[in-house]
Amino acid sequence: MVTGPEDGPVVTSFDESTLKTFPATLELLEARGILTPTVTLDQLRPFLTTAQRAVADQIMNLDPRDYGVHTPYAGDLEPVPANLVKVVGQQYTEHGQQHTIGEKYVPRHIFVAYVRMNAAFMAEHRKRRLLIQSCYRSPAYQVVVFIDWLVSFYAGNIAKTIRHASPPRYSQHTIASKAAIDFRNIDGSPSSGNLEGFKDTVEYAWLRQHGEEFSFYESWPEGNKYGMRAEPWHWQYRSST
Ligand SMILES: [Zn+2]
Repeated sequence: MVTGPEDGPVVTSFDESTLKTFPATLELLEARGILTPTVTLDQLRPFLTTAQRAVADQIMNLDPRDYGVHTPYAGDLEPVPANLVKVVGQQYTEHGQQHTIGEKYVPRHIFVAYVRMNAAFMAEHRKRRLLIQSCYRSPAYQVVVFIDWLVSFYAGNIAKTIRHASPPRYSQHTIASKAAIDFRNIDGSPSSGNLEGFKDTVEYAWLRQHGEEFSFYESWPEGNKYGMRAEPWHWQYRSST
């Protein structure tokens, strides 16, 4: 059952001293290999303080509409699906340095569509490819992603964060049947320091022209009616059947 977030008071901010504790906790979880896109809340909880758990629970139940953002409801929370394809070893080069993207998980039917699309892209742009920066995320991982942007990018401001990262029930990354892919290119764009730069890449131009042929749609274009910030790298998979 979905608890009605609209029943409770709107959360205007989180306790600042609790937010400050998250980076160290997330670092520890990362170091222990727990922080993967398929992590469950049960796996996370033992590592969180009572105050951190309270923040995580509140984020789980935030309603974007309370902050003037009209992200469509994505779906009720689902268990981590069994048909995920694990993608490892993707590499890009940024400022002359080679990086390897950590493990990513893609529902099988979306992976099949992605492989076809990437092949078509590579037929036109030899030596380039569409990398998967993110795809499926468990509800718990989506909460972690939200906390990460909230703390390290938006200085605790919920209204700004929620235009960028959605709570699990509103995230297009947590519903396996129609999960979105966040793309990255082999030059590392978008980078956290230059998210907008992806708009000027050949990958974005190609996706705009051909994405829909492979059932990938740009969810949050510039000036979208939902009030989400533009995310040219974020393409949702939507099968027509
Ligand atoms: Zn995304």
